[in-house]
Amino acid sequence: MMRAMVLREQRKPLVLSEMPKPIPKENELLIKVHVCGVCRTDLHVKDADLPDPKLPLILGHEIVGTVEAMGKNVRGFQIGDRVGAPWIGGCCEACAFCKSGQENLCDKLVFTGYQTNGGFAEYAVCRADFAIPLPSGLSDEHIAPLLCAGLIGYRSYRKANPQKTLGIYGFGAAAHILIQLAVFEGKEVYAFTRKNDSKTQEFAKRLGAVWAKDSETPPPGLLDAAIIFAPVGSVVPFALRALKKGGRCICGGIHMSDIPSFPYKDLWGEKSIQSVANLTRNDAKEFFAAISRFPIETEVKVYPLKEANTALDDLRAGKFEGAAVLKISD
Ligand SMILES: [Zn+2]
Ligand SMILES: [Zn+2]
Repeated sequence: MMRAMVLREQRKPLVLSEMPKPIPKENELLIKVHVCGVCRTDLHVKDADLPDPKLPLILGHEIVGTVEAMGKNVRGFQIGDRVGAPWIGGCCEACAFCKSGQENLCDKLVFTGYQTNGGFAEYAVCRADFAIPLPSGLSDEHIAPLLCAGLIGYRSYRKANPQKTLGIYGFGAAAHILIQLAVFEGKEVYAFTRKNDSKTQEFAKRLGAVWAKDSETPPPGLLDAAIIFAPVGSVVPFALRALKKGGRCICGGIHMSDIPSFPYKDLWGEKSIQSVANLTRNDAKEFFAAISRFPIETEVKVYPLKEANTALDDLRAGKFEGAAVLKISD
């Protein structure tokens, strides 16, 4: 048996429960979970912004642990290897998207901690071909947020592709990782936060933002690109207005409140809005290679497993800077 924080019903707190320890199928790893990051998507599943999860469900898709056992068809992993299990846990491998390197758009994606049990537990299983071998150098706690916040931020950043100036709306887990890569690559980052959130604005400046104000304040000059991580649709027209002609507005979240109507002139001049959906295994390879070039740091608030509800509530309320992680074992 194992301890897990279990979602029995959406909009209700997770319940600390004894669950059977999972048994890996022939192509799966059994991971002894050390740490699992807490992502806004976990909150969207719990709060029913995302529909129809498997129930009961173990949330969590920034899983860091060591391989404890594996199915007979698994190649390339050893017992004891440190691995990560991210949001995408499987795809069909046969559709046009899967065959063209866009597995993130497959209709048959399997999502960790949504359709299969995730990492708010002592053990988790994942398909070995979707597990991410983790580099040494960062502790379990500090590497966990890279597995979703880091990867989604990276995919958003590549889509935004700013020549020089980048606006980031919503300065949480994803932004605090991405800004380090952007600054390393010589970009100028403008951080946009909630109103009167001087603490987060200071945090952004400490990480290299050249300017930080609330989302409705226009930046001092027009920007090449904007990435919106805040799940707040009303920010989109402000971001569009902050862009140069040809500027790209990338929505990095899986869920966003409705976008209010806005004048066509705010989109005029070949500006574009694009969402970023999920991630690919190739994103993970590229991202970990990109951040191996400089000392990336993550700011984490650590909670014990049984305080997963507090971690989720604190995330909703914006009570900490950076990312929350659950510490499950050493
Ligand atoms: Zn597919
Ligand atoms: Zn996530």
